[in-house]
Amino acid sequence: MCIFCQIAKGEIPSNKVLEDEEFLAFHDINPIAPIHILIIPKEHVENFQSVSPELMAKMTPFIQKVASQLCLDQTGYRLITNNGRDGGQEVPHLHFHLLGGAKLKWTNLTHNDPHKNL
Ligand code: AMP
Repeated sequence: MCIFCQIAKGEIPSNKVLEDEEFLAFHDINPIAPIHILIIPKEHVENFQSVSPELMAKMTPFIQKVASQLCLDQTGYRLITNNGRDGGQEVPHLHFHLLGGAKLKWTNLTHNDPHKNL
């Protein structure tokens, strides 16, 4: 069972922000912003590319609720999902990174010259 399935089942502890029957939001263990929340479906879905439109339709208002609860709807935030190898996905269970609490920079996201990666 993957680590986020174990977190969803409560077998591994997490610092929860919001939970309902289908989704869970918890603090990232290695934050890269003052506020860094992970939002997952409890059901195992590998990544964004394989999520059903029906599940995404339910996940969207849950993500908005998390942002509102943390007052990020007022100040703004960044929502990221890493998909697959080149996207830098390390945990193969769909998750959105909700980042905020500071004015975030937008930097070169590739390790090398981006044109060499095309
Ligand atoms: P990604 O690289 O998009 O797959 O992101 C995986 C994220 O999960 C990283 O930001 C990790 O810091 C985070 N992470 C891994 N294990 C845990 C955990 N047990 N609790 C909270 N966050 C975790």
